[in-house]
Amino acid sequence: MPVLRSLMVAGLDGDARGTDVSMLAGGRVVLGDRVLDPGWVEVAGDRLAGVGEGAPPRPADVDLGGRVVVPGFVDLHVHGGGGGSYTTGDEHEAAQVAAFHRRHGTTTTMASLVTAELAELERVVAALADLAVDGLLAGVHLEGPWLSPRQCGAHDPGLLRDPEGPEVERLLRAGRGTVRMVTLAPELDGGLAAVGRVVQAGAVAAVGHTDATYAVTREALDAGATVATHLFNAMRPVHHREPGPVVALLDDPRATVEVIADGVHVHPAMLRRAVTTKGVGGVALVTDAMAATGMADGDYQLGGLRVEVLGGVARLAEGGALAGSTLTMDAAFRGAVRDSGLALEVAARAASTTPAGVLGLADVGAIEVGRRADLVVLDQDLRVTAVMAAGAWVDGAGS
Ligand SMILES: [Zn+2]
Ligand SMILES: [Zn+2]
Repeated sequence: MPVLRSLMVAGLDGDARGTDVSMLAGGRVVLGDRVLDPGWVEVAGDRLAGVGEGAPPRPADVDLGGRVVVPGFVDLHVHGGGGGSYTTGDEHEAAQVAAFHRRHGTTTTMASLVTAELAELERVVAALADLAVDGLLAGVHLEGPWLSPRQCGAHDPGLLRDPEGPEVERLLRAGRGTVRMVTLAPELDGGLAAVGRVVQAGAVAAVGHTDATYAVTREALDAGATVATHLFNAMRPVHHREPGPVVALLDDPRATVEVIADGVHVHPAMLRRAVTTKGVGGVALVTDAMAATGMADGDYQLGGLRVEVLGGVARLAEGGALAGSTLTMDAAFRGAVRDSGLALEVAARAASTTPAGVLGLADVGAIEVGRRADLVVLDQDLRVTAVMAAGAWVDGAGS
């Protein structure tokens, strides 16, 4: 079992150097349905060994000082951050992106790609597959090329295509089982069959960048789709005579809906509305973050397209479509609580438990005995003061 590194983490008192068991106490511990206040968490090696309310059963190694402890965040949809992108397929760069988001509390991450030539996607998927096998990534998310030109957002419309069976197989095969999510527009020729193929391969089929009608979205759900990619964004809007994908995905309990809770992609009231409609287990916060996340405003790339970031808002240089976000999961969590008014435990489910469930990961996503010791410690303003990943404190963590 890995030995805990020093606990001399910003703002936390205590030092468990040289031991692989650690008691964290005196904080607010957020479970799936309630908050233990005060609560304690015991970590042994890379696992959560105990959790309880009130005074800890033995003296604390780390005094949480009233801080909030939530499960490590699980991001289903993220393209980059800290100046780097997953889309290049460069392993060193990918590791840096994952490390950047880990410092903001994301301890389980997908690597999302954007539309590109098939051969290029095949190359990048194969490269990222190695990192997924190594455990750095939870898997690869293909966002494109099987998207609607009518709802392409920041995807190059010239590279979008219909999902022909052999092409779908080709990219899934390149991932050797690590392509765990595919966003596609089910109304395209072969779209519904592609949903079936993706699900059969053990991946999650997500409906997104779509002009599908309500009826076609229902068919996609019947074919096995279980996720709405950034609900509301890049999909046919709601109309009272054609409710479209939004209402179909909100109403169906088989679908989990992603929401980019940055206050730009959706109004905070829409996140609250989504939670009210879906129930607390039906919404997953995602960042959809791109390279500029955590960096200064300026010019960046998303896939092959030029992006301008101004005031933290990323838009295509040509046309001005929103081009991903500059969001981190800690900021999404904070916005969900502060701006959308979600309770801590509801926001924690949306940031951790629900997305872990989407991927079928029983090992992460909650503060429960036996799960991996992935924790985020937040101050009274819900800013990150420390992050623990698999029992080890992450260097340089903070909001
Ligand atoms: Zn998108
Ligand atoms: Zn995206």
